[in-house]
This record gives sequence, C-alpha cells and structure tokens, in this order.
Amino acid sequence: MTMSLTVPPTIAVPALERRSRYTACLLGGAIGDALGAPVEFMSRQEILRRFGPGGIRDHASAYGRTGAITDDTQMTLFTAEGLLRAAAGGHPPGHRARVAEVAAAYQRWLLTQDEDPARHADAGGLLGIAALHSRRAPGTTCLAALRQVGARGSREIVVARGRSRNGEPGADLRAKNNSKGCGGVMRVAPAGLLLTGLIADEALLVREAFALGSDLAALTHGHPSGCLPAGVLAAVIALLVREVPLRDALARTKPVLATRADCEETLAAITAAERLASQGAANHDTLAQLGGGWVGEEALAISLYCALAAPDLESAVVLAVNHAGDSDSTGAITGNLCGAAAGMDALPVRWLEGLELDRTTRELALALCAVG
Ligand SMILES: [Mg+2]
Repeated sequence: MTMSLTVPPTIAVPALERRSRYTACLLGGAIGDALGAPVEFMSRQEILRRFGPGGIRDHASAYGRTGAITDDTQMTLFTAEGLLRAAAGGHPPGHRARVAEVAAAYQRWLLTQDEDPARHADAGGLLGIAALHSRRAPGTTCLAALRQVGARGSREIVVARGRSRNGEPGADLRAKNNSKGCGGVMRVAPAGLLLTGLIADEALLVREAFALGSDLAALTHGHPSGCLPAGVLAAVIALLVREVPLRDALARTKPVLATRADCEETLAAITAAERLASQGAANHDTLAQLGGGWVGEEALAISLYCALAAPDLESAVVLAVNHAGDSDSTGAITGNLCGAAAGMDALPVRWLEGLELDRTTRELALALCAVG
C-alpha cells in the first residue's frame, strides 16, 4: 500500500470549494458592476421607467456593448495584478511591498485611461489588454491622485519609494486629498483573497487584511471614510472565503475598525446596515436610508445591507443596483461579498454570458488562490 492511498478523498473538495469562492468573489463583483453600469447615473424612477417594475435584471447596453464592466472592475483587476507581482517578486512580500506594487499597478491603470493603447500593445499583463484601455466613468479622485503620484516619478520610483522608507507602510504614497468617495473600497476585494490564503491565524488575518485594504484605498483617498471601509471589506472577504458567516465576519472586524482614528462614521454606517437588515425582508425604501453609495461608508453599508437582507446573490445584486445612487459600485461590492460567501454556483449563468473580460477575471482570481 502506498501512502497516497491513505489520503482521504475529501481533501480535494475544500480545495475546489476554495477556488470557487475566489473566482465567484471577483466574477460576482464584475457581474454587479456590469449590471449597474447602464443605470449608474439614473434615479430609481428612471430605472423603473426604462426597465419595468422589477428594475434592471439583465445586462443592458453601456459603453457600446452589453456586459460592460466599469472602472470598479478595471481597478480591482489591477489591484490583483499588483498583489500578484508583489507575491512573485524577489523580496519578502511584506505589507509595504504589496502597497507599493499596487501603487505601481494603479499607475498602469492610469495609462489605460490617459494614453493611446497602441503605445502599450506589446506590454505584458493587464496593460497590454486592449479592452482595458477604455474610460468607464473613472472616479475623478482616482485620476487626480494617481496623476499626482505619476508626476512625482516613474513606476520604478513609485515602487522604490513604497519599499524603502521607514515609518508607516507606504506613508508617502498616500493621497494628499480629503476625498471619501467609494473609489477606494470598490477595488480591494483581492487584498482579502490574497491574505486569507497566506495567514492562518484568524485574528492576525483580520488585522492584516484590514491594514492592506485600508492602505490600498489610501493611495487615492485621503479621508478616513474613504479608506476604512476598504479595510473592512478586505477583512470581511478574507473571513467569508473561510466560511465565516457575514454577521460573524463583521463582529470580528468591527473591533479592529474601532481602533482606528476617525472610525465613527464607518462604524455607524455598518451598524445601521446590520440593524436595517434584521428588521425584515430586503426592500428599496429601507436601502435608501443608507444613502446613495457615492461615498465609501455608504457604498459599504448598502452592499452589506443587500448581502445580509437578500436571500441569495441574484436578489442581493438586483437590490444593490436598482437604486438612485452609485449602482455599479454597490453592485460590485455586493457581488464580491456574496460571491466570496457562496461560490460559483450562486452566479446566474445568464449574467456570466457576455461578461466583459470574464476570462481575465477568472485567471487573476485563480492566481490569487494559488498563492496561498
Ligand atoms: Mg464604475
């Protein structure tokens, strides 16, 4: 008898399940982003007038195609690429190196917004993908903050600056603005996916994922409510992949949030989402009490409400996009949360069909899974 026969066959099942959760987290985000894209700038009344009383429930045309992703997914993919480059680098992939590599990745995303794609046709990685060279209503804060960094030095300098300074990790890469737009939180799910595969101890994982998500958002958003919700999302995603229920994941993350300066606004938004979700079936009037989602703490709260109150991923994402707010971002974050919790079986096949860059999104999710 060989040793391999003594390995219980059940070991392969969690591995498959894990891949499914990673993939569904990023594809769920892309699906929510794409479903919300056509209605991002519509009031709820306009959405209902155009798509009927059930609102938008299938991909519709935006940016010249159906199933188009927006800046939310573009930047999520670049976050993943930066984290993967840090993991593959010839240096210890500590916190500072990860932040610096993602800062460099965001500079590459900026090139897709500002430059002729033909200049980068031979580039490796995401920068060489022509479909990513498209403006999908990018956040002005992200563009301005990244242009400021870019003006201060080349990609190499950005990376070196993030690695070599003493003091707070990546401190001098932080955005010099006071923005709390949701452009920070909408893109950090890969931070939770990466670290949950690398850090076994759960309390340490929550602290590290929170710090990474928050510091990645701080690359473009200087207000605490622009960064801290991103810390919460990264930590919660890390726990959801481990099959921790969402309410428990929040209970384990909020104490870490509570140690941060100026956390009150984000804490209050999360608490409101939890309270409203426990008050009965999911509905739009209740969701509207949480705001429009244009700022970080509201986008997080709306997404948490949808994920907590709706019975499944499909109804959560439909709820998250059919409101008079930042539909693609709340759809994306809700899709991240529900996908990480439920895996690929929860994603409606009709939403996967025709989804832009679905293969690239899958590949990056699986690469993050393989790091752990
Ligand atoms: Mg967007």
